[in-house]
Amino acid sequence: SKTAYVRTKPHLNIGTMGHVDHGKTTLTAAITKVLAERGSGSSTQYVSFDRIDRAPEEAARGITINIAHVEYETDTRHYAHVDMPGHADYVKNMVTGAAQLDGAILVVSALDGIMPQTAEHVLLARQVGVNHIVVALNKADAGDEELTDLVELEVRELLSAHGYGGDSVPVVRVSGLKALEGDPRWTGAIDALLDAVDTYVPMPERYLDAPFLLPVENVLTITGRGTVVTGAVERGTIRVGDRVEVLGASVDTVVTGLETFGKPMEEAQAGDNVALLLRGVARDAVRRGHIVAAPDSVVPSRHFSAQVYVLSTREGGRTTPVSTGYRPQFYIRTADVVGDVDLGERAVARPGETVTMTVSLGRDVPLEPGLGFAIREGGRTVGAGTVTSVG
Ligand code: GDP
Ligand code: MG
Repeated sequence: SKTAYVRTKPHLNIGTMGHVDHGKTTLTAAITKVLAERGSGSSTQYVSFDRIDRAPEEAARGITINIAHVEYETDTRHYAHVDMPGHADYVKNMVTGAAQLDGAILVVSALDGIMPQTAEHVLLARQVGVNHIVVALNKADAGDEELTDLVELEVRELLSAHGYGGDSVPVVRVSGLKALEGDPRWTGAIDALLDAVDTYVPMPERYLDAPFLLPVENVLTITGRGTVVTGAVERGTIRVGDRVEVLGASVDTVVTGLETFGKPMEEAQAGDNVALLLRGVARDAVRRGHIVAAPDSVVPSRHFSAQVYVLSTREGGRTTPVSTGYRPQFYIRTADVVGDVDLGERAVARPGETVTMTVSLGRDVPLEPGLGFAIREGGRTVGAGTVTSVG
């Protein structure tokens, strides 16, 4: 039988962000390798590059399926780490995943410096409320020192421009590739990076007393057991036997199983990445974007006001203004919903501007002030916003 999850250290969710090919997946693998080989007191298992980069379909094991996540443990903390795809087509996943991040590792190749997706990910991180970023200046094994100094300056400027206090953000020069090969200079750099994450990313406030809420990221069936939903607990706690409702599916049910990273657990709490087995729920009744919540704890709605930054053309946004009547997709938590935009008296918003708007969504979703979201159109992100009021 499976070993139960024992909560011995504070749990945080972090992830790698940055331009494609700057080394996010290599670094993720290197982190698990360095920690796995540290031995004493660490339960970390090495996860190879190929196991991180493979397609989700191949990965269904236990009732935890979200293989974008790896787990590891430093001396002081337990981390769930999501290796976010770098390509713009996957920004949708980054946005919905990043909504739960307590901190992020921004991976920048010392050889290439800031690239368009580097800037886009920093912007999105800001918009979805990631308040702490640590920089991994990767490929430092191959970079020229003076050029790397310039890249560091450039990254600090970018972070300052987005309100991250670029002067105080830790920037660590690493080589994921050399650390994977076991080169002591570079395994030491991974240790330094992890120390920076441990100390610079604060333990966030967890809303444990709030009613349970989990945005559904994935749904799967376990033969003989039933339907399982996975995702990160946004707030509250949940135990086996608790009643829940699934908003979007209009289903009332009971949680009959609870796991994290393939390990059964008694109680999950805000911040945990979990899989919930739901009693008597048909596989096709639930999907990504639905919300599992304590019964009667949320009232979904479709009208809200928001502060929105319309991405500039340079950031990959639109080339033309948006106006009232615009009808893009809204990515809110894990949901993807069409919405009608009303810009009020202002009537138009140009790329690069920050505006207030009211939105009427195509269906009801749980909304609240402070909630971050992305606006997408034709497969690319064109805006990022925050809900200011509901109704
Ligand atoms: P991702 O797209 O950001 O996940 O990047 P990958 O981890 O897939 O790496 C992209 C390429 O860069 C691969 O060919 C890696 O071998 C190479 N690479 C990654 N990290 C390093 C590094 O630290 N040094 C060098 N020289 N190459 C690296
Ligand atoms: Mg990758």
